This record gives sequence, structure tokens and C-alpha cells, in this order.
Amino acid sequence: MNLASVILDIQTQALDAPYTYVVPDDLPDVSVGCAVLVEFGHRRAVGFVVKLWEDEELESDVNVSKLNPLLRVVSSPYFDEQGVSCAQWIAERYIAPLSASIRLFTPPGGVPRMVRTARGYWQLEEPTVGEVDDRWVVPGENFNSFEPRKNAIKQTAVVAALQSGELRMAELTTEFGSVSATIKSLVDKGVVKVEHRRRLRGVPQQREHHGNFVPSKKHILNTNQTRALEAIQTACAKGNGEVVLVDGVTGSGKTEVYLQAIEAVLKAGRNACVLVPEISLTPQTVARFRGRFGSVVAVMHSRMSQGERYDQWDFIRSGHARVVVGARSALFTPLRNIGLIVIDEEHESSYKQDSAPRYHARDVAEFITQQHNAALVLGSATPSVEALYACAKNPKWTQVQLPTRANGKPLPEITVIDMAKEFNSGSRSMFSAKLKRALGDELRAGHKVVLLLNQRGFAKFLLCRDCGFVPECPSCSTSLTYHEQGGMLVCHHCGHKEPAPRLCPKCGSPYLKKFGAGTQRVEAELRGLLNQEPGVGEVVPIIRMDADTTSKKGAHQRLLEEFANAQAAVLLGTQMIAKGLDFEDVTLVGVINADTQLNLPDYRAAERTFDLIEQVAGRAGRANLPGRVMVQTYAADAYAIQAAASYNRAQFLRAELPKRKLLGYPPYVRMANILLWGEDEAEVQTEARAVYGALKQVVFDQAGDSWQVLPPCPCVLERLRGNYRYHLVIKAPLSSDFAPVLTPYFRTRKPHKQVNLAIDIDPNDLL
Ligand code: ADP
Ligand code: ZN
Ligand code: ZN
Repeated sequence: MNLASVILDIQTQALDAPYTYVVPDDLPDVSVGCAVLVEFGHRRAVGFVVKLWEDEELESDVNVSKLNPLLRVVSSPYFDEQGVSCAQWIAERYIAPLSASIRLFTPPGGVPRMVRTARGYWQLEEPTVGEVDDRWVVPGENFNSFEPRKNAIKQTAVVAALQSGELRMAELTTEFGSVSATIKSLVDKGVVKVEHRRRLRGVPQQREHHGNFVPSKKHILNTNQTRALEAIQTACAKGNGEVVLVDGVTGSGKTEVYLQAIEAVLKAGRNACVLVPEISLTPQTVARFRGRFGSVVAVMHSRMSQGERYDQWDFIRSGHARVVVGARSALFTPLRNIGLIVIDEEHESSYKQDSAPRYHARDVAEFITQQHNAALVLGSATPSVEALYACAKNPKWTQVQLPTRANGKPLPEITVIDMAKEFNSGSRSMFSAKLKRALGDELRAGHKVVLLLNQRGFAKFLLCRDCGFVPECPSCSTSLTYHEQGGMLVCHHCGHKEPAPRLCPKCGSPYLKKFGAGTQRVEAELRGLLNQEPGVGEVVPIIRMDADTTSKKGAHQRLLEEFANAQAAVLLGTQMIAKGLDFEDVTLVGVINADTQLNLPDYRAAERTFDLIEQVAGRAGRANLPGRVMVQTYAADAYAIQAAASYNRAQFLRAELPKRKLLGYPPYVRMANILLWGEDEAEVQTEARAVYGALKQVVFDQAGDSWQVLPPCPCVLERLRGNYRYHLVIKAPLSSDFAPVLTPYFRTRKPHKQVNLAIDIDPNDLL
């Protein structure tokens, strides 16, 4: 008898093992990866088939006659056996529910599910997102010999239009009005045929293979690029999941290396997947891949509509897509026969998912490349400390360097400006004298300027100058941000809004001052400043890019185009402008406040600051005009800033690594962060202590003294969206595995009614 193991699509930790069902003989098309309908308890549920097997393998004490049958297959397969073992690996490594891990592999727009109707019945509901077909009118066998009658005006017109090739019915309708009767009679005569073809929403219409894509120029690689390509090809040839870290300064031609490596992979008959941080996945990035590989490129990211993503997913499943370019979730599309995975900007924190399963794309990609006998390429101008460490210690990791820009231009010079000195000399402006002067000079010369406002921890807030009161969000432990528009106070975590008070709510003083600087306020000050510059003020546009101006679909792209098309202009933005922008005529990059991130109580603060300065500096002087960079800071002596200013990573690491080693942080240990949150602080604290006690025992019994369980304490963000947050950290030696020690405890732990718990293995930060 045939049996199926099914993971139910119900998200609870306890239900997480597969259930066994009998596959009825008359049930067609059951295969691994299908969604199926099954009996579960007294109801029906949807699940996913993860294994098909024979009853001989069944343990003898299981009574086959007691097993329920699969009732129905409700989808074609979403994933294969390799997908299943990847999901199992994720569930195990990140101590996450298997159902949530399997869900990563299902199509955008959802899967069939059981819903309760108004009358209380359970009913199967299909996902609302699905494919759309276009009707194409194509010449038929009698097309060439056909002579329309003189008075058949529409027939004549349609046939004439089709002389230059097939057309969509919709195009014919736009051109000639309703044509259905005309087409019908032409079909009857064998003059034309109507074909249903899948439309790919959001993709330029593809008539032929390379269609409307503008080819992207292929460069002859320089010596370093050639060496990098060779290292990648060696890894591909070995096919055992080796990792090549392409450590190349901004503009060194990393992308060109990826493109040529992918070309070789495609030639060898295999496929490739490229991950790019969501924010850098601009149409320009996509165009470089489509320009090289044409219509076999599929794209997947969250700014696309559900329908567009579904189409791309389905296109990948069809086997016609050969290259997938996407954000981290692109790892889970049904791309078969993977020969290469590339992760660009490997150091980016967005590669870690912040809800269960809290996976890191780098680790998952390493697993997948091993599974597929493929190779993994990581690229960055500022590789993560973890990746550098792995290259030093792990024989399967290789580092190749691209120390110069591909066009031979030098990296821009970075000047550090001590804002404390500026302040002491009486200046109250956000712009130092040097930066002001440089701004005027560059703009007058018709060049472009990029200004970065490091917004993390630096939004504008109100402060009472009499009593020091700062308005805070009633449900999060953060100060409220002041918004110029409408004079509102806004919480950036939960969205809470209230009008800004005129008098201090605590002491009644009228001296409530606005502190800090949001992009809006910087824009206002900058405007004033430019207006004083002769020949600059009235003509130079300031293009502001932040969460507010980019919330609408396509806004991000529109602003970048505006900047690209402008003469002299200033692009003022938050972190989102630090990456991937490639504008030839940017000659000045200013960092308004480089150190705000340094003050965050997190072990990665220095690394993030170093990365940010190097990344944003990379935006200047990319083409013929030389560039310069000015970094304003109140912490001019900080090693992260000093080292970044001289592009000296070794200097940064010499200061950073001993600190990490001493304090016991990655890359020297592995960490698990256990987060607990709930509305009642006492409950959260009590539960955190209980979990701490239990985990200490578990670790003592199972792991020994090389592990450490730190007592629970409030998170840095103590309150968030009305919840109190506590966390406790477990540290373990690098070689150890959290799952075997911790999983049994978490699988059997009874969930607390008021306190939520999340397990974050290898957390990105401890905030
Ligand atoms: P990165 O990905 O490292 O930032 P890119 O691949 O985007 O670098 O290359 C930066 C610029 O240099 C691009 O405009 C690219 O077309 C160009 N380029 C890349 N490789 C070469 C080469 N070998 N010779 C000349 N120009 C190159
Ligand atoms: Zn006050
Ligand atoms: Zn809030």
C-alpha cells in the first residue's frame, strides 16, 4: 500500500511532525510537493506531501487500517524532494515550525486553505492569485492564400495587421474595435488561429527571445576580475558547495564577474540564482541581467504585485527561467538544476528574515549549493566579519580581491569633520563650514551631490528645555518623532500618532524645542543654505528619499530617475541611498551624521558604521569626474570612522576583533537569542525567568560548561507596539549545534497564554 507523509498547513509548534495517510489507488497525480486535503481530527485540513513511501517501511506496531486516506489533491506540486530536505534543514537549524519552513516554498499569493463559512461549515478556498492568459491571434495555414472579399473591411484590416506577425486579441480590439466576429469567421476559414498564452505581468511583452531588452555591454575582464572568475569556475567545477567571497571595492566590477560566471553556468546547462538586497533591486539592476540573458531571467521581490510575483514563480516552475534575480525569498522558488548562487552585498542585514523561520539567506544558500553540487559566490565591498572569518578558517571558503575600480579611477578621498569642534566654535548648523563650501562649489560646477542622513536613532524629537521631558510613545519605549507636516508626533515602530503639544505636558513650560533632525528638517536647512549660494539656490533641485517619499509603488524609481536626469542636483536620503546607486556625475558625498549608529548598544554597531561609510563613499567619483567624501561626526576619533576614512579594513578589524573575542560575540561564538514579549510586564518577566531556569538545566545536562546561558533582561527596545520585551542569550562554541540541545525543550514547552516567545538562532542584532 502507498503511503504519504503530510505536513499540515497549520502553524503551531506542537503539530509539527508529518502525519501518515494512505494514498488511495484511484487518486491521480499525488506527488511530493502537492497540497492535499486530509481528515484531521474532526475537521478537514490542507497539508503538503513531503514523502511518498510503501507500507513495508511502516513500523510493525502501526495499524494501517487505522490510517486515514488522502481525500483529494488540491494543487500541482510546489516543490520537490530537495525542497523538502531544505525546509527540514531550516526548521531544524533555526528551531522553527516545519510548516512555516515548508511555506517558504509555496507560490506567492497563497495556497488553497480550509475556511469556515458564515454558516459554520468548512470549505476549501482557492488562492485568489493565479495565472492570466492572453489570447493571441496568429496566422493559420490558409493565411497566405487568403483573399478577403472587397466589402469585408475588418477582415482586410486584421489580415493586413497580421502581415507583420502575430498580435494579441487585445491589441486588435484597441485598433479596430470589437473584432470577435471577424476573428471567428477567419478561424473558420483556417486563416488565423487563436492561441492562449500565459501572460507575465510586469514584464515587457516578449515576442521573441531577446525581445525588447537592451543588451548590456560585456566587458573584457581585467586581471583581478579574471582571477575572481577563475576561482568561481574552479568552485563550480568541484561542485561541492564551495564558497568564493568576491571582496571588491565599490565599482570594481563584481557584477560583471557574476554575469560572466552565470554565462558559463548556463552554457554548461545549469541554472543560476542571484540575490540582491531588496532596496538595490532597481530596474537598472534587473536590466543588466535581462540585457545579458534576455527573457530567461525571472525576477522576484516584494515591490512587485502578487500577480507579477505569481507569474514569475510559475515561469520558474515551468523550467523556462534559467536565471532568477531576487531578494532573499528567491532562494525558495522552484528553480531546478542550480549550478551557482550569487549573493551580492553579502553583509546586508536584510538577508536575515525577522519572523519565523528566522533564517539567514547566506546559510541557506550554502546548504542549497551543497545539495545541488553547485557553488556559492558572495560579493561585497564590506564583507561581514563572519564571512572574512570563514575565509580565514574554513578550507571550503576562498577570498578573491578586487582592490581597484574597474575604470581605473581612484576611490574618493574621505575627510572626517569633527562636529564637536564646529559646535564649540559657535556653529549651530547641521552643515559644517567645509561641507557647505564643497556643496556650493560642486553644484555651481554643475555636478551632483549625495547627502546621507543616518536616521537610525536620529529622528527629530521634542525636548522640554526646562525639565528635560521627551514625549514617548505610550506603547513603545522610544521617543516620538516630530513631523513638520501637520505638527504631528509619530512612533516609527507602531505608527502611533498624536498632535505635538504646545506646552510641556509635564511642567507646562512653553520651551519645547525640536531636537535631532529628520530628512524634512535637513531639507529645509539645506534649501536655506543653497539659496544663499550665488547661482545655485533657485535652480538646483533637492530630491529627498526617505520612508515617506518612497512609500508609493514606483516612487523610489521615479525619484532616482529625476536625480539621474537633473543637471546639478542634491539627493538627500536615509540609508536607502547608500547602496547600489550608480550615477556618473556625483562628485561629492556628504554624511551628515556618521556616528548615530555607533551609539546603539549592539555588538555590531561599529561594523555597521564602518560599512555604511565605505558603501556611501562608493557613490562618489564613479566615472570621469573625481569624487570626494565628507563625513561629519561627533565621534571623530572612533576607530570605525577613522578606519573607514582611510579604507583600512585591517585597521578596523584589529580594533574590533579583540573586543568581540573578549566579550564573546560572533564570529568567536554562536548565539541564540530568546525573545519574550507580552502586554503584562510582570508576566513576561516571570516567564522569562522560568525559561531561563529550564534552559540552564537543559544546557547543563546536554551541553556542559563551554555553553553559557545569560540571565534574562529587558531588551534595548524595552517596549514595542504595546508589548514589554525581554530577552536571554545563549552562547555556544563555534563548532556546536543549538538544535539537538534546545529543540526537545522548545518542542515540548507549553506555550504561555500571555507571553510570546521567539527563538532567533545567529541573531543579527540584540536590540
Ligand atoms: P560593482 O558590482 O563591483 O559595483 P560593476 O560590475 O557595477 O561593479 O562595475 C562598475 C562599472 O565598471 C560598471 O559601469 C561596469 O560596466 C564597468 N566595468 C566592469 N568591468 C569592467 C571592465 N573589465 N572594464 C571596463 N569597465 C568595466
Ligand atoms: Zn517640561
Ligand atoms: Zn509605538
